[in-house]
Amino acid sequence: MPSPVARHRPGDDGPSGHKGGKPRPAERLQRPGNPWATRRRFGVNLPIDPFAMERLPATELTPATAEALMQDLQQPAWRGRQLLEWVYQRKADDFDAMSNLPLAVRGRLRERIDPRPLQLARMQGSSDTTRKFLWRLHDGRYVETVLIPASPALYGGRSDRLTLCVSSQVGCAYACRFCASGLAGFTRNLSTGEIVGQVVGAARHSGQRIDNLVFMGMGEPLANLGRLLPALEILNASWGLGIGARHMTISTSGLAPQIERLAQVPLQIRLAISLHGASNEVRDRIMPVNRRYPIERLFEALQVWRRHKNQKLTFEYILIDQVNDGLDQAALLGRQARELDAKVNLIPYNTVHGLPWERPPLARQEQFLSQLRKRGVSATLRREKGHDIDAACGQLRLQEETADGLITDTHCPQPAHNQPA
Ligand code: SAH
Repeated sequence: MPSPVARHRPGDDGPSGHKGGKPRPAERLQRPGNPWATRRRFGVNLPIDPFAMERLPATELTPATAEALMQDLQQPAWRGRQLLEWVYQRKADDFDAMSNLPLAVRGRLRERIDPRPLQLARMQGSSDTTRKFLWRLHDGRYVETVLIPASPALYGGRSDRLTLCVSSQVGCAYACRFCASGLAGFTRNLSTGEIVGQVVGAARHSGQRIDNLVFMGMGEPLANLGRLLPALEILNASWGLGIGARHMTISTSGLAPQIERLAQVPLQIRLAISLHGASNEVRDRIMPVNRRYPIERLFEALQVWRRHKNQKLTFEYILIDQVNDGLDQAALLGRQARELDAKVNLIPYNTVHGLPWERPPLARQEQFLSQLRKRGVSATLRREKGHDIDAACGQLRLQEETADGLITDTHCPQPAHNQPA
Protein backbone atom coordinates (compact mmCIF):
# COMPACT_ATOMS: atom_id res chain seq x y z
CA MET A 1 0.00 0.00 0.00
CA PRO A 2 1.36 3.44 -0.81
CA SER A 3 2.37 5.44 2.22
CA PRO A 4 -0.25 7.99 3.20
CA VAL A 5 2.49 10.58 3.58
CA ALA A 6 4.07 10.11 0.18
CA ARG A 7 5.28 13.44 -1.12
CA HIS A 8 3.05 15.33 -3.53
CA ARG A 9 4.65 17.67 -5.97
CA PRO A 10 3.80 21.35 -6.13
CA GLY A 11 2.00 22.06 -9.36
CA ASP A 12 -0.30 19.04 -9.21
CA ASP A 13 -3.21 21.26 -8.60
CA GLY A 14 -6.57 19.86 -7.74
CA PRO A 15 -9.13 20.13 -5.05
CA SER A 16 -7.47 17.65 -2.75
CA GLY A 17 -3.95 19.16 -2.77
CA HIS A 18 -1.59 16.75 -1.06
CA LYS A 19 -4.27 14.32 -0.04
CA GLY A 20 -3.90 12.15 -3.14
CA GLY A 21 -1.05 10.41 -1.39
CA LYS A 22 0.13 8.35 -4.36
CA PRO A 23 3.84 8.37 -5.04
CA ARG A 24 4.37 9.82 -8.51
CA PRO A 25 6.72 8.11 -10.96
CA ALA A 26 10.04 9.86 -11.41
CA GLU A 27 9.29 10.60 -15.09
CA ARG A 28 6.66 13.04 -13.96
CA LEU A 29 9.41 15.48 -13.14
CA GLN A 30 10.26 15.70 -16.82
CA ARG A 31 6.79 16.42 -18.13
CA PRO A 32 6.31 19.72 -19.88
CA GLY A 33 4.23 22.05 -17.80
CA ASN A 34 5.61 20.69 -14.56
CA PRO A 35 6.74 23.66 -12.48
CA TRP A 36 10.02 21.97 -11.63
CA ALA A 37 10.88 22.26 -15.29
CA THR A 38 11.58 25.98 -14.71
CA ARG A 39 15.05 24.67 -14.06
CA ARG A 40 15.51 24.12 -17.77
CA ARG A 41 13.50 27.15 -18.85
CA PHE A 42 16.01 29.47 -17.27
CA GLY A 43 18.96 27.35 -18.32
CA VAL A 44 20.58 27.40 -14.90
CA ASN A 45 21.47 24.58 -12.62
CA LEU A 46 19.51 25.17 -9.48
CA PRO A 47 20.89 23.79 -6.28
CA ILE A 48 17.96 21.42 -5.94
CA ASP A 49 18.00 18.97 -3.07
CA PRO A 50 16.17 15.95 -4.55
CA PHE A 51 15.90 14.37 -1.12
CA ALA A 52 14.01 17.40 0.17
CA MET A 53 11.57 17.09 -2.75
CA GLU A 54 10.76 13.54 -1.80
CA ARG A 55 9.97 14.37 1.80
CA LEU A 56 6.71 15.75 3.10
CA PRO A 57 7.14 19.26 4.55
CA ALA A 58 6.59 19.09 8.31
CA THR A 59 4.22 22.05 7.99
CA GLU A 60 1.89 19.94 5.87
CA LEU A 61 1.26 17.30 8.54
CA THR A 62 -2.27 16.68 9.80
CA PRO A 63 -3.40 14.31 12.58
CA ALA A 64 -4.27 11.71 9.94
CA THR A 65 -0.90 11.84 8.16
CA ALA A 66 1.12 12.10 11.38
CA GLU A 67 -0.64 9.10 12.93
CA ALA A 68 -0.35 7.04 9.74
CA LEU A 69 3.33 7.88 9.61
CA MET A 70 3.86 6.71 13.19
CA GLN A 71 1.99 3.51 12.43
CA ASP A 72 4.32 2.97 9.46
CA LEU A 73 7.19 3.29 11.91
CA GLN A 74 5.55 0.79 14.29
CA GLN A 75 4.85 3.51 16.82
CA PRO A 76 1.65 4.22 18.73
CA ALA A 77 -0.65 6.71 17.02
CA TRP A 78 -0.36 9.23 19.89
CA ARG A 79 3.23 9.86 18.89
CA GLY A 80 1.72 11.55 15.83
CA ARG A 81 0.17 14.15 18.15
CA GLN A 82 3.55 14.69 19.78
CA LEU A 83 5.06 15.35 16.39
CA LEU A 84 2.31 17.85 15.50
CA GLU A 85 2.89 19.66 18.78
CA TRP A 86 6.59 20.03 18.03
CA VAL A 87 5.90 21.39 14.57
CA TYR A 88 2.95 23.73 15.13
CA GLN A 89 2.98 24.70 18.80
CA ARG A 90 6.69 24.64 19.60
CA LYS A 91 7.75 25.48 16.04
CA ALA A 92 10.74 23.13 16.14
CA ASP A 93 12.59 22.84 12.83
CA ASP A 94 15.04 20.20 13.94
CA PHE A 95 14.35 16.61 14.93
CA ASP A 96 17.11 16.77 17.56
CA ALA A 97 14.92 19.14 19.55
CA MET A 98 12.02 16.67 19.68
CA SER A 99 13.18 15.24 22.97
CA ASN A 100 10.12 13.15 23.83
CA LEU A 101 10.40 11.14 20.60
CA PRO A 102 12.75 8.13 20.74
CA LEU A 103 16.09 8.72 19.01
CA ALA A 104 15.55 5.91 16.49
CA VAL A 105 12.15 7.36 15.54
CA ARG A 106 13.69 10.79 14.99
CA GLY A 107 16.19 9.22 12.60
CA ARG A 108 13.43 7.54 10.61
CA LEU A 109 11.35 10.73 10.56
CA ARG A 110 14.30 12.59 9.09
CA GLU A 111 14.08 10.34 6.02
CA ARG A 112 10.38 10.99 5.51
CA ILE A 113 9.73 14.53 6.71
CA ASP A 114 11.42 17.79 5.76
CA PRO A 115 11.50 19.75 9.06
CA ARG A 116 12.36 23.06 7.41
CA PRO A 117 10.80 23.50 3.95
CA LEU A 118 11.66 27.22 3.99
CA GLN A 119 15.06 28.63 4.83
CA LEU A 120 15.43 32.20 5.95
CA ALA A 121 17.54 33.93 3.29
CA ARG A 122 17.10 37.48 4.55
CA MET A 123 15.19 39.33 7.20
CA GLN A 124 14.72 43.07 6.96
CA GLY A 125 13.20 45.29 9.57
CA SER A 126 12.23 48.90 9.29
CA SER A 127 12.05 51.75 11.75
CA ASP A 128 8.37 51.13 12.42
CA THR A 129 9.27 47.47 13.08
CA THR A 130 7.58 46.03 10.00
CA ARG A 131 9.67 43.00 9.14
CA LYS A 132 10.11 41.27 5.85
CA PHE A 133 11.22 37.65 5.55
CA LEU A 134 12.72 36.35 2.33
CA TRP A 135 12.50 32.56 2.22
CA ARG A 136 14.53 30.27 0.03
CA LEU A 137 12.60 27.22 -1.13
CA HIS A 138 14.25 23.87 -1.77
CA ASP A 139 14.23 24.38 -5.55
CA GLY A 140 16.19 27.62 -5.16
CA ARG A 141 13.17 29.89 -5.59
CA TYR A 142 12.25 32.68 -3.20
CA VAL A 143 9.07 34.02 -1.63
CA GLU A 144 8.36 36.83 0.78
CA THR A 145 6.33 37.23 3.94
CA VAL A 146 5.76 40.54 5.74
CA LEU A 147 5.04 40.93 9.45
CA ILE A 148 3.06 44.08 10.22
CA PRO A 149 2.59 45.02 13.86
CA ALA A 150 -0.62 46.54 15.20
CA SER A 151 -2.36 46.90 11.86
CA PRO A 152 -5.05 49.52 12.50
CA ALA A 153 -8.04 47.29 11.87
CA LEU A 154 -7.44 47.29 8.12
CA TYR A 155 -8.88 43.87 7.47
CA GLY A 156 -11.39 43.69 10.23
CA GLY A 157 -9.02 42.47 12.92
CA ARG A 158 -8.50 44.38 16.15
CA SER A 159 -5.79 46.99 16.02
CA ASP A 160 -3.52 45.24 18.52
CA ARG A 161 -3.15 42.20 16.33
CA LEU A 162 0.09 41.12 14.74
CA THR A 163 -0.60 40.61 11.04
CA LEU A 164 1.36 38.44 8.64
CA CYS A 165 1.10 38.98 4.90
CA VAL A 166 1.50 35.54 3.28
CA SER A 167 2.45 34.54 -0.30
CA SER A 168 0.61 31.83 -2.20
CA GLN A 169 2.66 31.41 -5.40
CA VAL A 170 6.15 32.04 -6.77
CA GLY A 171 5.51 34.88 -9.19
CA CYS A 172 2.03 35.56 -10.51
CA ALA A 173 0.25 35.01 -13.81
CA TYR A 174 -2.21 37.90 -13.55
CA ALA A 175 0.11 40.75 -14.57
CA CYS A 176 -1.64 43.60 -12.76
CA ARG A 177 -0.01 46.75 -14.05
CA PHE A 178 0.93 48.11 -10.62
CA CYS A 179 2.44 45.00 -9.11
CA ALA A 180 6.04 43.80 -8.80
CA SER A 181 5.02 40.17 -8.17
CA GLY A 182 3.91 39.57 -11.73
CA LEU A 183 6.85 41.28 -13.44
CA ALA A 184 8.68 38.07 -14.21
CA GLY A 185 5.55 35.98 -14.79
CA PHE A 186 4.40 32.87 -13.00
CA THR A 187 6.80 30.18 -11.79
CA ARG A 188 4.85 27.76 -9.64
CA ASN A 189 2.25 27.25 -6.95
CA LEU A 190 3.40 27.03 -3.37
CA SER A 191 2.63 23.74 -1.67
CA THR A 192 0.40 23.61 1.39
CA GLY A 193 3.51 23.09 3.53
CA GLU A 194 5.19 26.15 2.05
CA ILE A 195 2.13 28.31 2.74
CA VAL A 196 1.82 27.14 6.35
CA GLY A 197 5.63 27.19 6.71
CA GLN A 198 5.69 30.97 6.22
CA VAL A 199 3.49 31.43 9.30
CA VAL A 200 5.39 28.91 11.42
CA GLY A 201 8.76 30.34 10.28
CA ALA A 202 7.78 33.99 10.90
CA ALA A 203 6.54 33.09 14.39
CA ARG A 204 9.76 31.17 15.07
CA HIS A 205 12.09 33.93 13.90
CA SER A 206 10.15 36.81 15.46
CA GLY A 207 9.39 34.99 18.70
CA GLN A 208 5.87 36.45 18.54
CA ARG A 209 2.43 34.97 18.25
CA ILE A 210 0.86 35.79 14.91
CA ASP A 211 -2.89 36.17 15.18
CA ASN A 212 -3.98 37.79 11.94
CA LEU A 213 -3.25 36.59 8.41
CA VAL A 214 -3.73 38.32 5.08
CA PHE A 215 -3.12 36.36 1.89
CA MET A 216 -1.90 39.43 0.13
CA GLY A 217 1.69 38.53 -0.58
CA MET A 218 3.03 37.21 -3.86
CA GLY A 219 0.65 35.32 -6.12
CA GLU A 220 -3.07 34.84 -6.59
CA PRO A 221 -4.33 32.68 -3.71
CA LEU A 222 -7.52 31.68 -5.51
CA ALA A 223 -5.50 30.31 -8.44
CA ASN A 224 -3.94 27.90 -5.92
CA LEU A 225 -7.12 26.91 -4.12
CA GLY A 226 -6.20 23.21 -4.03
CA ARG A 227 -3.21 24.02 -1.79
CA LEU A 228 -4.76 26.94 0.01
CA LEU A 229 -7.74 25.07 1.47
CA PRO A 230 -5.70 22.43 3.36
CA ALA A 231 -3.40 25.26 4.52
CA LEU A 232 -6.38 27.17 5.94
CA GLU A 233 -7.41 24.03 7.79
CA ILE A 234 -3.97 23.62 9.37
CA LEU A 235 -3.73 27.32 10.23
CA ASN A 236 -7.16 27.26 11.86
CA ALA A 237 -7.16 23.87 13.61
CA SER A 238 -6.60 23.59 17.35
CA TRP A 239 -3.95 20.92 16.65
CA GLY A 240 -2.35 23.35 14.16
CA LEU A 241 -1.74 27.06 14.54
CA GLY A 242 -5.12 27.85 16.12
CA ILE A 243 -5.67 31.13 14.24
CA GLY A 244 -9.35 32.10 14.12
CA ALA A 245 -10.92 32.00 10.65
CA ARG A 246 -12.23 35.55 11.25
CA HIS A 247 -8.62 36.62 11.42
CA MET A 248 -7.72 35.31 7.99
CA THR A 249 -8.30 37.45 4.91
CA ILE A 250 -7.97 36.09 1.40
CA SER A 251 -7.22 38.78 -1.15
CA THR A 252 -8.04 38.18 -4.80
CA SER A 253 -7.76 40.01 -8.08
CA GLY A 254 -11.32 38.82 -8.72
CA LEU A 255 -11.51 35.18 -9.86
CA ALA A 256 -15.30 34.95 -9.82
CA PRO A 257 -15.80 31.14 -10.03
CA GLN A 258 -13.22 30.52 -7.29
CA ILE A 259 -14.87 33.13 -5.06
CA GLU A 260 -18.09 31.17 -5.43
CA ARG A 261 -16.28 27.93 -4.54
CA LEU A 262 -14.61 29.47 -1.51
CA ALA A 263 -17.99 30.80 -0.38
CA GLN A 264 -19.07 27.18 0.15
CA VAL A 265 -16.18 26.44 2.53
CA PRO A 266 -17.57 26.37 6.07
CA LEU A 267 -15.04 28.77 7.60
CA GLN A 268 -15.90 32.39 8.41
CA ILE A 269 -12.86 33.73 6.59
CA ARG A 270 -12.76 37.25 5.20
CA LEU A 271 -12.48 38.30 1.59
CA ALA A 272 -10.71 41.34 0.16
CA ILE A 273 -11.11 42.27 -3.48
CA SER A 274 -8.32 44.07 -5.31
CA LEU A 275 -10.66 46.36 -7.21
CA HIS A 276 -8.51 49.36 -8.20
CA GLY A 277 -11.01 50.58 -10.78
CA ALA A 278 -14.75 51.16 -10.44
CA SER A 279 -15.63 51.04 -14.14
CA ASN A 280 -14.63 48.31 -16.59
CA GLU A 281 -12.88 50.89 -18.72
CA VAL A 282 -10.54 51.95 -15.91
CA ARG A 283 -10.14 48.47 -14.41
CA ASP A 284 -9.28 46.97 -17.82
CA ARG A 285 -6.30 49.32 -18.00
CA ILE A 286 -5.00 48.23 -14.63
CA MET A 287 -5.90 44.56 -14.31
CA PRO A 288 -6.02 42.24 -17.36
CA VAL A 289 -8.14 39.77 -15.31
CA ASN A 290 -11.04 42.22 -15.66
CA ARG A 291 -11.46 41.20 -19.31
CA ARG A 292 -12.12 37.66 -18.18
CA TYR A 293 -14.28 38.52 -15.19
CA PRO A 294 -15.63 42.04 -15.67
CA ILE A 295 -17.07 43.98 -12.77
CA GLU A 296 -20.66 42.70 -13.31
CA ARG A 297 -19.49 39.05 -13.17
CA LEU A 298 -17.28 39.75 -10.16
CA PHE A 299 -20.14 41.38 -8.28
CA GLU A 300 -22.40 38.42 -9.04
CA ALA A 301 -19.84 36.21 -7.27
CA LEU A 302 -19.65 38.66 -4.38
CA GLN A 303 -23.40 38.40 -3.92
CA VAL A 304 -22.97 34.62 -3.63
CA TRP A 305 -20.23 35.22 -1.09
CA ARG A 306 -22.45 37.50 0.98
CA ARG A 307 -25.19 34.90 1.11
CA HIS A 308 -22.76 32.48 2.80
CA LYS A 309 -20.60 34.69 5.02
CA ASN A 310 -21.29 37.19 7.77
CA GLN A 311 -18.07 39.14 7.43
CA LYS A 312 -17.98 42.47 5.67
CA LEU A 313 -16.23 42.51 2.31
CA THR A 314 -13.23 44.76 1.76
CA PHE A 315 -12.39 46.58 -1.46
CA GLU A 316 -8.72 47.37 -1.93
CA TYR A 317 -8.23 50.41 -4.09
CA ILE A 318 -4.72 51.61 -4.96
CA LEU A 319 -4.77 55.31 -5.80
CA ILE A 320 -2.75 55.93 -8.96
CA ASP A 321 -2.21 59.46 -10.19
CA GLN A 322 -4.38 60.34 -13.21
CA VAL A 323 -5.32 56.69 -13.75
CA ASN A 324 -8.07 55.81 -11.27
CA ASP A 325 -8.23 58.73 -8.86
CA GLY A 326 -10.95 60.75 -10.63
CA LEU A 327 -14.04 61.81 -8.76
CA ASP A 328 -16.21 59.84 -11.20
CA GLN A 329 -14.46 56.68 -9.96
CA ALA A 330 -14.99 57.74 -6.34
CA ALA A 331 -18.71 58.20 -6.97
CA LEU A 332 -19.04 54.83 -8.69
CA LEU A 333 -16.95 53.06 -6.05
CA GLY A 334 -19.07 54.64 -3.33
CA ARG A 335 -22.23 53.27 -4.93
CA GLN A 336 -20.72 49.79 -5.34
CA ALA A 337 -19.45 49.68 -1.75
CA ARG A 338 -22.87 50.67 -0.45
CA GLU A 339 -24.60 48.08 -2.60
CA LEU A 340 -22.38 45.27 -1.28
CA ASP A 341 -21.95 46.74 2.20
CA ALA A 342 -18.19 46.65 1.67
CA LYS A 343 -15.60 48.80 3.31
CA VAL A 344 -12.88 50.42 1.25
CA ASN A 345 -9.13 50.51 1.89
CA LEU A 346 -7.48 53.22 -0.15
CA ILE A 347 -3.79 52.54 -0.69
CA PRO A 348 -1.45 55.18 -2.12
CA TYR A 349 0.42 53.56 -5.02
CA ASN A 350 3.87 52.31 -4.06
CA THR A 351 6.30 53.13 -6.84
CA VAL A 352 7.71 50.06 -8.58
CA HIS A 353 10.88 50.76 -10.51
CA GLY A 354 10.28 50.21 -14.21
CA LEU A 355 6.53 50.80 -13.97
CA PRO A 356 5.37 54.19 -15.14
CA TRP A 357 2.78 55.22 -12.56
CA GLU A 358 2.91 57.47 -9.50
CA ARG A 359 0.86 58.11 -6.41
CA PRO A 360 -1.44 61.14 -6.42
CA PRO A 361 -0.65 64.15 -4.21
CA LEU A 362 -1.93 63.78 -0.65
CA ALA A 363 -4.66 66.37 -1.12
CA ARG A 364 -6.11 64.34 -3.98
CA GLN A 365 -5.97 61.11 -1.97
CA GLU A 366 -7.88 62.81 0.83
CA GLN A 367 -10.42 64.24 -1.57
CA PHE A 368 -11.09 60.74 -2.91
CA LEU A 369 -11.51 59.49 0.66
CA SER A 370 -13.92 62.24 1.60
CA GLN A 371 -16.03 61.53 -1.51
CA LEU A 372 -16.51 57.99 -0.26
CA ARG A 373 -17.25 59.03 3.31
CA LYS A 374 -19.73 61.61 2.09
CA ARG A 375 -21.67 58.72 0.58
CA GLY A 376 -21.74 56.89 3.91
CA VAL A 377 -19.04 54.36 3.01
CA SER A 378 -16.65 53.12 5.69
CA ALA A 379 -13.27 53.93 4.15
CA THR A 380 -9.66 54.31 5.28
CA LEU A 381 -6.61 55.76 3.61
CA ARG A 382 -3.61 53.57 4.36
CA ARG A 383 -0.55 55.20 5.79
CA GLU A 384 1.66 52.35 4.85
CA LYS A 385 3.93 50.68 7.29
CA GLY A 386 7.06 49.21 5.87
CA HIS A 387 7.18 51.43 2.83
CA ASP A 388 10.95 51.70 3.32
CA ILE A 389 11.45 47.95 3.00
CA ASP A 390 9.49 47.52 -0.22
CA ALA A 391 6.40 46.27 1.52
CA ALA A 392 4.75 45.89 -1.86
CA CYS A 393 5.52 42.22 -2.21
CA GLY A 394 7.61 40.68 -4.90
CA GLN A 395 10.46 43.15 -5.04
CA LEU A 396 12.91 41.40 -2.73
CA ARG A 397 12.32 38.13 -4.49
CA LEU A 398 12.92 39.75 -7.88
CA GLN A 399 16.27 41.04 -6.65
CA GLU A 400 17.32 37.71 -5.28
CA GLU A 401 16.25 35.57 -8.24
CA THR A 402 17.77 38.05 -10.69
CA ALA A 403 21.06 37.93 -8.77
CA ASP A 404 20.98 34.11 -8.78
CA GLY A 405 20.39 34.07 -12.53
CA LEU A 406 16.94 32.49 -12.19
CA ILE A 407 15.25 35.46 -13.82
CA THR A 408 17.02 36.47 -16.97
CA ASP A 409 14.16 37.99 -18.90
CA THR A 410 15.53 41.26 -20.23
CA HIS A 411 12.04 42.79 -20.31
CA CYS A 412 11.94 42.49 -16.57
CA PRO A 413 12.99 45.80 -15.06
CA GLN A 414 15.48 45.75 -12.23
CA PRO A 415 13.49 45.72 -9.05
CA ALA A 416 13.43 48.88 -7.06
CA HIS A 417 14.95 48.76 -3.61
CA ASN A 418 14.28 51.19 -0.82
CA GLN A 419 12.05 53.37 -2.92
CA PRO A 420 11.57 56.76 -1.36
CA ALA A 421 8.06 57.29 0.00
N1 SAH B 1 -3.47 38.37 -6.11
C1 SAH B 1 -4.05 38.85 -4.90
C2 SAH B 1 -3.05 39.01 -3.81
C3 SAH B 1 -1.90 39.94 -4.21
S1 SAH B 1 -1.89 41.26 -3.17
C4 SAH B 1 -4.80 40.13 -5.15
O1 SAH B 1 -4.74 40.63 -6.26
O2 SAH B 1 -5.49 40.60 -4.27
C5 SAH B 1 -2.42 42.57 -4.10
C6 SAH B 1 -2.41 43.76 -3.17
O3 SAH B 1 -1.06 44.18 -2.92
C7 SAH B 1 -3.10 44.92 -3.80
O4 SAH B 1 -4.48 44.90 -3.60
C8 SAH B 1 -2.45 46.05 -3.05
O5 SAH B 1 -3.10 46.19 -1.81
C9 SAH B 1 -1.03 45.58 -2.80
N2 SAH B 1 -0.07 46.11 -3.80
C10 SAH B 1 0.58 45.44 -4.78
N3 SAH B 1 1.36 46.26 -5.50
C11 SAH B 1 1.22 47.47 -4.96
C12 SAH B 1 1.77 48.74 -5.26
N4 SAH B 1 2.64 48.94 -6.26
N5 SAH B 1 1.39 49.79 -4.48
C13 SAH B 1 0.53 49.61 -3.46
N6 SAH B 1 -0.03 48.45 -3.13
C14 SAH B 1 0.31 47.37 -3.86
